Amino acid sequence: MHPSRPEKVRFAPSPTGFFHVGSARTILYNWLVARKSGGSLLLRIDDTDAERNREEWVDGIYRAIQWLGLDWDEGPIRQSSRIEQYQSVAFDLLHKGAAYWCDCTREAIEERKAPGTPPGYDGFCRDRGLGQGPGRALRFRVPDGPVIVSDLIRGEVTFPSGSIEDFVLLKSSLAPLYVLANVVDDIDFAITTVLRAEEHLPTTPKAVLIHQALASPIPRFGHLPVLVNEQRRKLSKRRDRVAVEDYRQLGYLPEPMINYLALLGWNPGDDREFFALDELVHAFTLERVGHSPAFFDEQRLLHFNKSYLASLSPAAFATVAHPFVASLIALHAEGEERFVQIAPEVQTRIGTLSELPAMIGFLFHFDPNYQEIVKRLRADDIGYLARVSAALQDLEHFTEEEIETCLRDVAASLATSLRKLQAPIRLAITGAPVGPPLFSSMAILGQDECVTRLDSLYRVASNE
Ligand code: GLU
Repeated sequence: MHPSRPEKVRFAPSPTGFFHVGSARTILYNWLVARKSGGSLLLRIDDTDAERNREEWVDGIYRAIQWLGLDWDEGPIRQSSRIEQYQSVAFDLLHKGAAYWCDCTREAIEERKAPGTPPGYDGFCRDRGLGQGPGRALRFRVPDGPVIVSDLIRGEVTFPSGSIEDFVLLKSSLAPLYVLANVVDDIDFAITTVLRAEEHLPTTPKAVLIHQALASPIPRFGHLPVLVNEQRRKLSKRRDRVAVEDYRQLGYLPEPMINYLALLGWNPGDDREFFALDELVHAFTLERVGHSPAFFDEQRLLHFNKSYLASLSPAAFATVAHPFVASLIALHAEGEERFVQIAPEVQTRIGTLSELPAMIGFLFHFDPNYQEIVKRLRADDIGYLARVSAALQDLEHFTEEEIETCLRDVAASLATSLRKLQAPIRLAITGAPVGPPLFSSMAILGQDECVTRLDSLYRVASNE
């Protein structure tokens, strides 16, 4: 890309469902092109399909873009508010001879079709000279000859002569079809580069033909590689987790999400993995976007999220983590203090923030299932619990270091290892066999609470 030419790009989602990770990648790449070239990004809402569109999905688009940390420079414009403009361009095409009215029903088209002929419309009404009327759609008159789409990512893609039917521009209701609407908008908003999902490649020759018929400059097109799942099947909302909102709720953060999405199709040309958004602006080029399907690997996304969480300052981590445990923290009078103390202990232990409630909940609210916990105890554990409780009661300073020293001494006197001794203590203190570092957790809980929890489990386990 030539850095001195400001690109005008657009992101044009249809509000028909939750904001998809593929859409997130599309806006990201557009945004990067706009920022890198000193150009601008238009947000367009492709909302002409009244039956499938919902206002809440439109809000979801704005929310997702904001959450990702991206923005737009112009718009949002709504296609639904520009229907008359699309109709007017369609009539222009009619007057230029590039379109004609057609009254063929789907059934009539099917009936005429000889076996083995290509699917699509046969051009029956091309020269019938029909005028506008009920039940008549306006079709584009596709000229003879191949259509060549020059794609920034795929190179030249040739659509052979005859492979594109005379497609509909306006339905008989005069509702414009989306290929027309998109071309009109791309012209009116002076779009220089169209970067969008690969699924739109088949309609691109139609867009090129409309541009040519209107004698308007053709924007550069780039079709981004399809996202596939582990089975190499196109990501689908029925099979795969695709909603950006789901990832947000699971406790993924926008920065690693952006970082991961950037690498889904683009490669930096070296081994570098971690990029902040401003670094991506610098490094990103369309030349390094490939066309092979990109595997959306949740495990790799998790790796990015985990690494990002670990890289935050303790204060920044506490800030992003807080909403995920706010309702738990509120259950305890010293909840905020405890949270601030435990946060750095768990920062490097989680992949997503939604793991936190199960991991640190015992600090704020403790209601263990003793029947289940007792099943995990080994024969010696019950005696250990009593010894540990007694030893901890004597501690003068209930700090992490003193707790550890004390437990080492107890382990030695019982001729067991600290590790073996820790297992029943952890169950008593946290209610679970794994969790955050034990000694610091105990120090945060305080002496009384630790002793009470140890004694409670001891009583249940020894049937006292
Ligand atoms: N509205 C289309 C979509 O959501 C995008 C069309 C385009 O970018 O040209 O898939």
